[in-house]
Amino acid sequence: MNLTRTLHRFTVVPSLPKELAGLARIAYNLWWSWDSDAIGLFRRLDPELWRVTRHNPLEMLGSLQQATLDSLMADEGFMSHLAQVEESLDAYLTARTWYQRHGNPGARIAYFSMEFGLHESLPIYSGGLGILAGDHLKSASDLGLPLVGVGILYRQGYFRQYLNLEGWQQEIYPENDFYNLPLHLEKDPSGLPRLLELEICGRAVKVQIWRVQVGRVRLYLLDTNLEGNLPADREITTRLYGGDQEMRIKQEILLGIGGVRALRLLDLEPNVCHMNEGHAAFLALERIRIHMEEEQLTFPEAVEAVRGGNIFTTHTPVEAGIDHFPPDLLEKYLGHYYRGLGLAPEAFLSLGMQTPERPGESFCMAVLAMKLSNHSNGVSELHGEVSRKMWADVWPDLPEEQLPLTSITNGVHQNTWLSEEMAALLVRYLGTRWIEEQGAEQIWHKVTRIPDAELWRTHRRGTARLVDYARRTLKGQLQQLEASAKDIANAVEVLDPEILTIGFARRFATYKRGTLLLHDKERLAAILNHPTRPVQIVFAGKAHPADHQGKELIRQIVQLSHQERFRRSIVFLEDYDISVARHLVRGVDVWLNTPLRPLEASGTSGMKVAFNGGLNLSILDGWWCEGYRGNNGWAIGRGEVYDDLAYQNEVESRAIYDLLEKEIVPLFYNRDVDGIPRGWTACMKNSLQSLCPVFSTDRMVREYTRRCYLPAFEHWERLNRDDKRLAVELAHWKQKLHGLWGQLSIDEVQAEIDREVTVGDRLSIKVRISTGEIPLAEIAVEAYFGVLDSQGSIMGGELVPLEPAGTKGGSWSGHFEGELECRFCGRHGFMLRVMPRHPELGPVYAPGLVLWG
Ligand SMILES: *Cc1c(COP(=O)(O)O)cnc(C)c1O
Repeated sequence: MNLTRTLHRFTVVPSLPKELAGLARIAYNLWWSWDSDAIGLFRRLDPELWRVTRHNPLEMLGSLQQATLDSLMADEGFMSHLAQVEESLDAYLTARTWYQRHGNPGARIAYFSMEFGLHESLPIYSGGLGILAGDHLKSASDLGLPLVGVGILYRQGYFRQYLNLEGWQQEIYPENDFYNLPLHLEKDPSGLPRLLELEICGRAVKVQIWRVQVGRVRLYLLDTNLEGNLPADREITTRLYGGDQEMRIKQEILLGIGGVRALRLLDLEPNVCHMNEGHAAFLALERIRIHMEEEQLTFPEAVEAVRGGNIFTTHTPVEAGIDHFPPDLLEKYLGHYYRGLGLAPEAFLSLGMQTPERPGESFCMAVLAMKLSNHSNGVSELHGEVSRKMWADVWPDLPEEQLPLTSITNGVHQNTWLSEEMAALLVRYLGTRWIEEQGAEQIWHKVTRIPDAELWRTHRRGTARLVDYARRTLKGQLQQLEASAKDIANAVEVLDPEILTIGFARRFATYKRGTLLLHDKERLAAILNHPTRPVQIVFAGKAHPADHQGKELIRQIVQLSHQERFRRSIVFLEDYDISVARHLVRGVDVWLNTPLRPLEASGTSGMKVAFNGGLNLSILDGWWCEGYRGNNGWAIGRGEVYDDLAYQNEVESRAIYDLLEKEIVPLFYNRDVDGIPRGWTACMKNSLQSLCPVFSTDRMVREYTRRCYLPAFEHWERLNRDDKRLAVELAHWKQKLHGLWGQLSIDEVQAEIDREVTVGDRLSIKVRISTGEIPLAEIAVEAYFGVLDSQGSIMGGELVPLEPAGTKGGSWSGHFEGELECRFCGRHGFMLRVMPRHPELGPVYAPGLVLWG
C-alpha cells in the first residue's frame, strides 16, 4: 500500500490575558536571566514548575492553568512585582550607555561563535567557549555596544549527561522545543520566513534565521532543519560538536559563510567581525567574495579591504582543540567556492597553513583566521605567550614579541554569576556604583568595610544552598536509576554546610586532571574524615562522548564516592551545565583547578567563584597566573613544567595535600570566640578586592572595544572610503614591492661596538641601504635590539627606528641612523631590518616583505 500522509503542523503559544502580557515580554528577553527580581518573579509563579522546566519561563507560562492565571491577576503583590520588573527592563533598555559616551556610532560589530551559553534553558553550548560567548553578549548589552551575535540553533544541542550505577557516563540528546524557547523566526513583510540559500556540496541548502534578544543585543541563530532540505542537510544543525569532520566543515561553512549572508539579508552587514575561535574563519572568505563580486576587486584588493575589520580570538593551546581539515575535504566542500575567488588550489590551501612548503600540512582554521585578521589574541597573558610560540610560523619574518597576536584575558558576567545574597551584601557596603563601574578598584577597596561575620554568614548561606541542591540532585539521580531504597535515603545525608567545601567542575579532558586529588586515597581519606576539621568535595563535569579516558576518570570518582569512607564527603553531580555551575560557584569555599600547565588557556569558573567570596586553589596556569597575589588564594607549585607526567602528578598532588593540611584546613577552622575564621575572611576580602575589578567580561568587552573593535572599525573605514581607494592602492603597492624587494640591500653598517660600552651609554649606528627602484620614503629601517640569551638570540628585544640621514646617489640609496640606549648589562646584540612603510599597512606584514640584515 502506498499511502502518502501529510502531517499538518501548528504551534500553540501561551495565551496570556493582557494584564499578564508583561510576563511574556520579559521571558522573551534573556535580560531576565541576570536580573534577580525577574528571576524571582518567575520562580514565584510556581517554584516546582520552575525547577521542572529547568528555569524555562516560556515553557512554564505555556503550562499554567487558567485558574492560576486568575489568581495571579487577583494577587496585588504579584502584579506590583510584575510592574516593577517591567519598569527595570524598560530602564535597562533606555539607559545611556558607556558606548554612547566612548564608542563610535558607525561601527557595526558581529560576533561569531559556534556556541553560546546564555542560560541553561537554551542549551546550545557545551562549555567554557560558549559560556564566554554568552557572557560577552551580556556585557556587550550592558555597555551598549552596536554588536550582534551569530551562531547556530541546534535541534539537540550538546548531550545531556547521566551516570549509570557504575558511574559510567551515558549521553542523551533531548530535542529542543523551539516554540518553548525565546526565539523569533525572522520573517519578511508578507510573514514568510526569510530564507537564504547556501551551497554545500553542490546542493542549495535553505537556511532560516532565528533571533534571540539578549538585553539590548540580538543574537541570530541559523537553522537548516527545514522541509525542502534533504535529510542530510537538515542534519547540519542537529548537534553541537556531534559529527565527524565532514559535519564540522558543513557547520563551519554555515556559520561563517551563511552567517555573513544572513546578516546581509537582514540589512545588518557588519564592518567589524569577531571570530570567537577558528570555527568561524570562513566568514573572512565570504567578506572577500562579496567585495570581489560587488566592487569588482581582485582577491588581494579585497583582502586589504576586509582584513582590517576582522578580529580573531584563539582559545586553546591544545592542538587537538583546533580544527584541521585535509585538502580533499576542502576540495569537496569549497573547491567551487575558492575557484570563484580566482584562487588556485595551492593559493587557497596556503591560506590555512603555517608552512605551506611543509609536506602533509593540513588546513587549519586558526591559521586562516590569523592570516585574514589584523588583530589576533589569546585569552590570558600566558596563553598569549604560548600562542605566539605556537603560531610563530604564520609570520615568519617577525620576532615573537612582535607578532600581531596579543592577549585579552577572559572574564565573567558579574550579574549572571553573583548570588543574590552576595550582591545585596556588596550593595550594602560598596553602594551601587560597582555595578556600573565594575573595574573601579577604589570602590572594591570598600570590601574591607564588610564586617567579617556578615561576609562569613552570607557565604555559608551559599554553601547551605549548594548542599541542599546536591542532596536533592543526588536523590533524583538515584531515583532515576532505581537504586536501592537505602542508597536513596543516604543521599539526603551527604555533605554538611558547615564543613570546608571544595568544588571541582569542568570538562573531563585528560589535561585537566580531574582525579589528581585522588592520587593518594589514604591521605585524602585522612583529610576528608578528620574528626574535628573535616573536608568535603563536590565534583561535576562531562567528558566528550568519544573520550573514553575522560569517562573513565568520572567513573573512578563515582566509584570512590560509593565507598563507605567517602560516601558523605564526595559527591558527583551529573549533567554539569550553567545551572549546576551557578550552584557550585556560589557555594564552595575552595575551587580546585589542576590543569597541566600551560594547557588551560584561561579558565573562567574560578572567576565566578571569586565573585562569590570563594577562594581559588589552582595550578599557576591561565588566568590564575595573573590573578594570584599570594594572599588571595593558593597556587599549586610555582608554574613548573615537567617532562615526566607521572612524576609531575606525584609532586603536584602532594603539593595539594600539603596545602590542605598545613594551610587551608587550619585557616578555615581557626575560629575566634564568635565562631568566625578571621584569617579566612581576610583572605576572602583580598580575593574579592583583587579579582572582581579585573576578571569580569565588563572589563574584557571594554578592552576588546578599545583595543580591537574601534581601531578595526576606523581602519576598515579608511580603507573602504572613496570606493575602497586605499585598499586597492595598498594591494597594488604591496604587489609592486614584492616585485622589487629583491633589489634591496643593506650595504654598510657602522656601529661603535668595538669600544667598551657602559650601562646608560648610547650607541649610535648608521647604515647605508640601496633600495633599487623602491623610493626611500617607502621603507622603514629599524634596529631590533636587546640582551642575548645563552643561544645568542635576542630576548624580548625592542625596536628602534632609524631615521633617514641624507641621500646619496639619488633617492634610491641612503643613510639611516639612530641610537641604541644600553640600559642593562650583559651581552647585547642588534639586527637590522627593513620593512615596507605605509600608513595603512597594519600589523600583518606580508611575508616576504621584510629584509633582515
Ligand atoms: C564557567 C563554565 C565553564 C568554563 O569554566 P572553566 O574554568 O573553563 O572550566 C564550563 N562549563 C560551565 C557549565 C560553566 O559554567
